[in-house]
Amino acid sequence: MLKFDPYYFQCPNCQAWFEGRNLKSELVNEAILYSDGKILYDNYITTRQKMILCPSCGHSFWVENPTEPFITFQKPDTAIYSWNTWRFFGISFSDNRGKLALIKHYQQFLKKSSYEPKREIYLRRLLWWAYNDLHRNFHYIRWKYFLNGFMSYGVWSAYRRMLLEGEKLFIKNLKNYNANLNRLLQLLEKHPEEQVDLELPEIYRELRQFDQAKALLDKATSRTHFTNEMIRHSKWKDSRVFMVTG
Ligand SMILES: [Zn+2]
Repeated sequence: MLKFDPYYFQCPNCQAWFEGRNLKSELVNEAILYSDGKILYDNYITTRQKMILCPSCGHSFWVENPTEPFITFQKPDTAIYSWNTWRFFGISFSDNRGKLALIKHYQQFLKKSSYEPKREIYLRRLLWWAYNDLHRNFHYIRWKYFLNGFMSYGVWSAYRRMLLEGEKLFIKNLKNYNANLNRLLQLLEKHPEEQVDLELPEIYRELRQFDQAKALLDKATSRTHFTNEMIRHSKWKDSRVFMVTG
């Protein structure tokens, strides 16, 4: 079970109140790392949501460097938007429609204005993960995941259907996905301080530039399970996001 410390903040436009949550990470039971850098703790993404879309007035704003009185740990004595109403813009991810809606939100933010590199990298990284969510865990389509008894047939076949449909949607959006990754790559190469470990070879791999990915991986100072897996997937010419540990 994850536990969270609540905090509260206000929309700078209409002063509506929101409840946010900080993870108490010491209580995490299970962490899953994916090759694109997305990490789930007990099935929760803990990457902070820095772009908020106010459900009350539609204003979008950044919550990046929380300072009082904009953010407080004291619960205000008024109506508050709960975490689930604004987190990921209130989207439900139980089907591919929700996943597409998340992609659309990030694309709209990027279209609406230009951002300083750090913020654009943040939005493009989350857009990248959102595209990958369409076919994340694609290995679960294999029969062995039903046969090993982790899921009932009904749950597995519904999940499998969603993944197969998600893969089709991913391919349909490939042009925009590639454009986003190319731009992210350009930004990260210009701002190496924003790069996350192994992010560049992974972007090359997902762009199907396998030789570039391998060249960068060969330069990596230490061989880990992660680098070995990335080299393996590059050799197979497999560009899909994969689960590294979980
Ligand atoms: Zn507002």
